[in-house]
Amino acid sequence: MAKEVLECSFCGRNKPDTNLLIAGISAHICDRCIEQAHGIVLEELKTNKNSKKSSGDLILKKPKEIRTFLDQYVIGQDQTKKVMSVAVYNHYKRLMQLQDNDEVEIEKSNIIMVGQTGTGKTLVAKTIAKMLDVPLAIVDATVLTEAGYVGEDVESILTRLLQAADYDLAKAERGIVFIDEIDKIARKSDNPSITRDVSGEGVQQALLKLLEGTVVNVPPKGGRKHPDQKFIEVNTQNILFIAGGAFDGVEKIISKRLNRQAVGYSTSKNADNIDKDNLLQYIIPKDIKDFGLIPEIIGRLPVLTHMDPLDRETLRAILTQPKNALIKQYQKLFSIDDVEFTITDEALDYIVDKALEYKLGARGLRSLCEAILTDAMYELPSSDDKTLAIDRDYVKDTLNKNLLKRLEIAS
Ligand code: ADP
Repeated sequence: MAKEVLECSFCGRNKPDTNLLIAGISAHICDRCIEQAHGIVLEELKTNKNSKKSSGDLILKKPKEIRTFLDQYVIGQDQTKKVMSVAVYNHYKRLMQLQDNDEVEIEKSNIIMVGQTGTGKTLVAKTIAKMLDVPLAIVDATVLTEAGYVGEDVESILTRLLQAADYDLAKAERGIVFIDEIDKIARKSDNPSITRDVSGEGVQQALLKLLEGTVVNVPPKGGRKHPDQKFIEVNTQNILFIAGGAFDGVEKIISKRLNRQAVGYSTSKNADNIDKDNLLQYIIPKDIKDFGLIPEIIGRLPVLTHMDPLDRETLRAILTQPKNALIKQYQKLFSIDDVEFTITDEALDYIVDKALEYKLGARGLRSLCEAILTDAMYELPSSDDKTLAIDRDYVKDTLNKNLLKRLEIAS
């Protein structure tokens, strides 16, 4: 009887022509066919995942719902919340529409937020990312330089985003990038002929493409330290860019413009109606251009919004009202040691007074609270005392003892 020649039931190769032939119940498969099948499986999984991602998990929240979510974490900043809610809504509408291949193309709604430091710009970006459950990269524009100079290339922004997305490319491509201190890459002088403005206009130029939507080769580990790493191609078309900056001195530009307008059209804009304590609310794109951002960048950050300075009432609310308000956090920390922590309204008012007096802003609230509560957090876990009631005198004493002395020396 002739010896049976085993062959792959898929491609028909004889056993000697394969590296490996695996036997099933009534069939065989060779190594090549296994590899090919494996490729098909991977491809199939990927398309399934993508189609699920793009339709299933993109929940379009209406602007009012976005606003309600922001309200839980951010106090005040009404205009920004409204503008942001609409911009984010439109951005995600645009993503849905891209899948329809419609003819009318909705342009990106990248955002620029102008406001003093510590007024909640980063917080707004973080809250939006949390709500949408998308990765967020926070980058500082001051570290960016043109390729070839010491510092980080603009692509490093996308490295951060990939890292925030655990290297899930599809996720990263729908993420949010918050570029802080965008004002620091403004052109230093009005003279556009400066050719070697390393940290300024060159970076703005490099950012342009990213903001607009392009495919960028991104070193996954970032930097130039890993020269042999394989690049990942990241498409920035659906990434939402939010830029923020304090734009110190832009008030002067605004005020000048407003005065000119008041003179020119005395009937339309009455100079007396201008709220001089919060000039940022009148900001228009031209002011940012006059500050030193190039028109192309401004064009690619079409949604402009401002942050109001934090007044007494807002600071007071920040202490107790947000979902993760400082006081709530301390209450939780103490409750883990079974300590009931209470603080009087007068004590909270005093903390706000000091934050205002020393111009510490919202960030300073945290340092003040730490200075007030560190002793208690040190002592109570090893004590039988299970209550901590803080009043104004306690705050005054501990602050005088700890932080204020240092602040006075510093100021
Ligand atoms: P910015 O990015 O404008 O410099 P941040 O968003 O980093 O400011 O704000 C610093 C901290 O101050 C935040 O983590 C938050 O605790 C608090 N904070 C600032 N503004 C607000 C606000 N409007 N509502 C709630 N908390 C705020």
